[in-house]
Amino acid sequence: MPSKTRYDRSDIRRLNAVNVIDQLRRNGAMSRATIASRLGLTRATVSNIVSDLMDASLVSETEYTEGKVGRPGLLLNLNPDCGCMIAVEIDLDRVTVVVANVGQDLLWKDSVLVISGATAEDTLKSAALLVDRAMSEGGDRGLKCLGIGVAWAGLVNHESGELVYGPTSGWSHIPLKSDWEARFGVSVFVENQANAGAIAAQHLGVRRGVGNLIYLSVGLGMAAGIFVDGVLLRGSQGFAGQVGHTWYADNGVNCSCGHQGCWVTEVGVLAVHRRLLARGVELPLGSESNVEWLDDVCDRAKAGDRIILSVLEEVGAQLGRGLSRLVQSFNPSVVIVGGRMGGVMRLCEDSVLSSFRASALPYMQEEMELLISENDADHQMGCLATVFDAIMQNPLMGDGK
Ligand SMILES: [Zn+2]
Repeated sequence: MPSKTRYDRSDIRRLNAVNVIDQLRRNGAMSRATIASRLGLTRATVSNIVSDLMDASLVSETEYTEGKVGRPGLLLNLNPDCGCMIAVEIDLDRVTVVVANVGQDLLWKDSVLVISGATAEDTLKSAALLVDRAMSEGGDRGLKCLGIGVAWAGLVNHESGELVYGPTSGWSHIPLKSDWEARFGVSVFVENQANAGAIAAQHLGVRRGVGNLIYLSVGLGMAAGIFVDGVLLRGSQGFAGQVGHTWYADNGVNCSCGHQGCWVTEVGVLAVHRRLLARGVELPLGSESNVEWLDDVCDRAKAGDRIILSVLEEVGAQLGRGLSRLVQSFNPSVVIVGGRMGGVMRLCEDSVLSSFRASALPYMQEEMELLISENDADHQMGCLATVFDAIMQNPLMGDGK
């Protein structure tokens, strides 16, 4: 945990500080007087809070002059360089680590491939070494790490930060939050990968603030992060959204979770792999365990390879059909398909859309947008947003930095 003293002398004062920060987040630069008026607080109260926030380097001030004459005034801003945040995406075939300042400007990024058959211990050891490097990268820029956000492809206990069970990886009961907080000395927040994608879309994306949103993360695994009325749906154990392992096809193929015919077996990376092989498309030996070959397949599809395009259209149709069940269950206004298959699905977008439209109730499609995200950093951005929120909800105060 951070060694700085947290502001806990008065809950009301802390709440006021959170509200001041929230005003700056929403509106950008503001004067003390405007903040006081918006929050219904006295100038003196706001000035005291701002003084604490400036001591903690969370807020800085800049001079401005209105018009050509007049006294210069001071505007407050969130200070993007008050520290750095680290995002760690532990996917099934690679670990990616990102460093950003609190203004969420990306400063450094690196990844390591997860070798087929690697144990959880080996993978997490590689991940921790990458986090060591990330902390050094932040430190070299004079930025202390304020928190680490982790996105993992599996069932997560968000409160305890335990990796409970990976339906595809087979990992179980790994106390990642407590292990890494002990190792790195900062707060660690663990989230399911799809939830991280949904948080990124809801907090940062072009549909920021949308109350009812589904982010469907499709890669080697598959899950959905679901916002209902502005709240991320977690369920009683926090495992909600494992839609990839819902039944989809009679006499379907075996799934890593032990069942047959799960939705992921028809639309995930391995579904594309299996269908390509069945159509005689050559793929690198042993390529089932990673997604490196996808880039080549996408390039060939873009160049007009008709066999590959028709395989992608078949998979896109299964995606669109299955999506109708999600939409009819949760009635979102925005659905985003992302993850490693996002770029692939862009190549067969018409197929996804037409099969979705043919399968879903027409009334439920009227005010709904279906978007496909090619941004493979969605999950990482969601980790950063989670850390950012935690910092802003519990600002380090009065440490006299
Ligand atoms: Zn399954």
